[in-house]
Amino acid sequence: MSQISSSSTSQSPSARKLCRCGGYIKTWTSWTDLNPGRRFEACEMSRRSRGNGHHWEWLDAMTCARGKELIPGLLRRMRAMEEDLKLIEEHKKEVEDKLKMVEREKKELEYKVGELGK
Ligand SMILES: [Zn+2]
Repeated sequence: MSQISSSSTSQSPSARKLCRCGGYIKTWTSWTDLNPGRRFEACEMSRRSRGNGHHWEWLDAMTCARGKELIPGLLRRMRAMEEDLKLIEEHKKEVEDKLKMVEREKKELEYKVGELGK
């Protein structure tokens, strides 16, 4: 998971601008170490590679020194937590599957006990 930028959904479709290539220009947020949290406008094509005849423009001033220092570390911690969460979710699913199996076995045993009592 190394997402360079994320899309913003704040723009209404009617306010959308078009790039020279015909693609919609959207507002993105950069999450690179050099420009963490800095928003820019670009079409889908120029989102990852700046320019090449496509529209590409920063909306925010450069991220301040403290932000550059702080945000990448926070992002790394957030991503590590997301990875941990994924593992926990997988483990939870395994435990739930085991529980289902045990409950099925329990029902079978209860049925057998019932049969013996007849
Ligand atoms: Zn374009």
